[in-house]
Amino acid sequence: MLDRAVIDALFPADLPGPGHWEERYPPRQLPEGAQVTRFGPSPTGFVHIGGIYVATIDRDIAAHSGGRYLMRVEDTDQSREVEGALAQFARAFDYFGLHPDESDESAGDGAGSGAYGPYRQSDRHRIYLSYVRELLRQGQAYPCFATKEELAGIAARQQAAKVPPGYYGSWAVWRDAGPADVAARLAAGGPYVVRFRAPDDTAGRRVRFTDAIRGELEHEANRNDAVILKSAGQPPHSPRLPTYHFAHAVDDHLMRVTLVIRGEEWISSVPLHRQLFDALGFEPVRYAHIAPLMKQIPGGKRKLSKRKDSEASVDFYLAAGYPADAIGYYLRGLANGRLAELPLAEALVTPIQLDQMGVAGPLVDLAKLEDISADYIATLTSQQVFDAVRTWATQYDPELVTVLDAAPELALRALAVERDGVDNRRKDLRKWADFRAAYGFFFGQLFTPLSGPADERLAPVGVDPGVAASFARDFADGYQHLDDPQQWFSQVRELAAKHGFAASAREYKQAPGAYAGSIREASQIIRVALTGSTRSPDLHAITQALGASEVLRRLRALAYPLRGAQPC
Ligand code: GLU
Repeated sequence: MLDRAVIDALFPADLPGPGHWEERYPPRQLPEGAQVTRFGPSPTGFVHIGGIYVATIDRDIAAHSGGRYLMRVEDTDQSREVEGALAQFARAFDYFGLHPDESDESAGDGAGSGAYGPYRQSDRHRIYLSYVRELLRQGQAYPCFATKEELAGIAARQQAAKVPPGYYGSWAVWRDAGPADVAARLAAGGPYVVRFRAPDDTAGRRVRFTDAIRGELEHEANRNDAVILKSAGQPPHSPRLPTYHFAHAVDDHLMRVTLVIRGEEWISSVPLHRQLFDALGFEPVRYAHIAPLMKQIPGGKRKLSKRKDSEASVDFYLAAGYPADAIGYYLRGLANGRLAELPLAEALVTPIQLDQMGVAGPLVDLAKLEDISADYIATLTSQQVFDAVRTWATQYDPELVTVLDAAPELALRALAVERDGVDNRRKDLRKWADFRAAYGFFFGQLFTPLSGPADERLAPVGVDPGVAASFARDFADGYQHLDDPQQWFSQVRELAAKHGFAASAREYKQAPGAYAGSIREASQIIRVALTGSTRSPDLHAITQALGASEVLRRLRALAYPLRGAQPC
């Protein structure tokens, strides 16, 4: 075994022992059954929707059990770190109302901190060092000087010998190196890592553990001497940082986490993690391994991919403006199918249950999310929709903010069409970015009046342009801006008959050659003149929202193209 003095010389002289940290972070005083969960994002500059899914579950389990949910920034792989990444999380957490109970102020979320911080791993390096030194002193860890090339050589020989790859047993060349050799190498100051000494008796052994989602699991015992402390960076030396395996064990213990909820890619590491907890003398923590969100592809499904799928990114949802509650509801339904059966408001407050989560990854289906979102938006009042669209537009469509602010009353009148006071509300908004397409035509600044009967927007109506223009001219000339929808529509009917349109689609079908079209086409001419599209809410309601002069301006643009769109 290495001399204690040799070991201690590797660490700062004033480094406290584990007892110091144990005292500094005492067990929490929480009610029986309370769960302490944590979300451990790595600041790589990309917030995956799967992260929001996991954080939703973390928060839910902690909140419903009277526990705590904390966010720990896992930045031990500093090569992957990206500037501004934490602000991205803060924005996403703001949007989804997922602020942790405990985190660092420096994480940018403004959520305040807890008594178990710092919550950023790079700020905890002294803590890890205390525990690494302890394992070295006990002979449960050792320095390893194997270079990349040497490790590659070992791997090649293992392949040739048809034995499993890894740094273990007699392949682990520094595992049982003579203390004098090790001391000499250390004294020479060469780079090294610290490896955990896996227990000797692991060959052929299997480990059983209980997963809160998957139940009893069994896995081959770990025999690899995993790296727990990475080598120091190039000068100027950054602090030596631990690997994820080691950091999570120390952190989850000292933060008094009771339930580790994380991606299923970590299941195969549980045997190593159990050994680390044992070696460190920690109570084992419970695990819940979550299946990843999936995407349907021709012939199967695969993980929702950061590189291939735009909908993997939280920014996609924020930029499109899917309401947070609709997404929250959708994600909860993916976690627990029974929540998708409940009305939204109830599902948002009904606890997620880990033992009801699937072992296969759920499919993210944007069409389904859009339906949910449209249903949800249809429950909101015009004022609520207005406020939400405006908030969204502040960041994603500044021009729209100007337009809304210039005519808030018009916006509210427009939104009220087939929304306020009706049972069967329009579902024309699935996300806030749909506002322009669905309601933009109400606003003078966003609507370009027709350029005359040859305007291509009129083409789908299928009426002779000359007839359309003279019909629009007569309609504009005698236009009556009536409150009563029936009376308003009578003027369209009468005029349509005068211009050779059949009174019904059926009559028109029977003798298409005898008519210019039917009342349907006549109405469509007005619709396109007023909205630019053949699809819109109720025409009369639109005229009421626009007001008489704007209605006339738009009709005249079709009827009198040479005069331009100005009222005459
Ligand atoms: N930083 C780890 C990851 O991003 C977190 C795993 C965990 O929650 O333990 O995968």
